[in-house]
Amino acid sequence: MSRLAPRGKPGLILATDLDGTLLGGSEDDRRRLTDTMEAEPSFQVIFLTGRNLETVRPYLDDPLVPTPAYIVSDVGATVVSGKDLKPIQPLQNELDRAWPGCTAVERVLRPFPFLERQDVPQERRCSYHIADERSITRELLLAVESIGCSALFSAGRYLDVLAEGVSKGTTLLKLIDLEKLDPASILVAGDSLNDLSMFETGLKGVVVGNGEAGLKQAVSEMSSVFVARRTGAGGLLQALCLTSPDAARALIAPQDTFEEPCRLT
Ligand SMILES: [Mg+2]
Repeated sequence: MSRLAPRGKPGLILATDLDGTLLGGSEDDRRRLTDTMEAEPSFQVIFLTGRNLETVRPYLDDPLVPTPAYIVSDVGATVVSGKDLKPIQPLQNELDRAWPGCTAVERVLRPFPFLERQDVPQERRCSYHIADERSITRELLLAVESIGCSALFSAGRYLDVLAEGVSKGTTLLKLIDLEKLDPASILVAGDSLNDLSMFETGLKGVVVGNGEAGLKQAVSEMSSVFVARRTGAGGLLQALCLTSPDAARALIAPQDTFEEPCRLT
């Protein structure tokens, strides 16, 4: 009988937004980040994106993007395995049940014709363009609440309507619980206000250098969150230097070490 080495827990789980974060920064940084994440078998990646799964698919074959263990898409309303894109159950069923459907959302938002529906695939959420944050009135929020939903404004122009309580952060916490992932090994990363819920989980996190000013402001008092100087993948490399085990540090080029004092411990 052969002896098998016990399978250790992942040493590092990078739970990251895509646009502006994992997909942001220089090509060189993206390549080095991908190499770093794929060189160590105990490292895992979770995508947490506002995209729909259909528009995530092209990145699964991109050599500059690490292969994800899980994909949380539609701003937290969809969760699938990165291996076969099958829903993670019973979590996905729970998300399905919470969603009243786009017809219900469109009905209650009819009195707000300035909302322009985004022309991208969407599931279990309705996403709009909005020209002015001041258009998000109490009446609009009450209309959304009346069907068990909430509204999320980000990047100064996007309004996502999601089932109440559904966000990237809440779905990530449920996934951690369901899949028995080690919260201490997770590093969350993002660049816009629709990533704020990830930082509100209390998990260690990094806002990349190109992050939205409103997000940087919102995390300024969070001791678990670090604001990187470099953009996109470069900011993730900096954060890995700070948070990853020694094994990771050895894989990361010296220029990625962070020279400035930081708050993250
Ligand atoms: Mg983003």
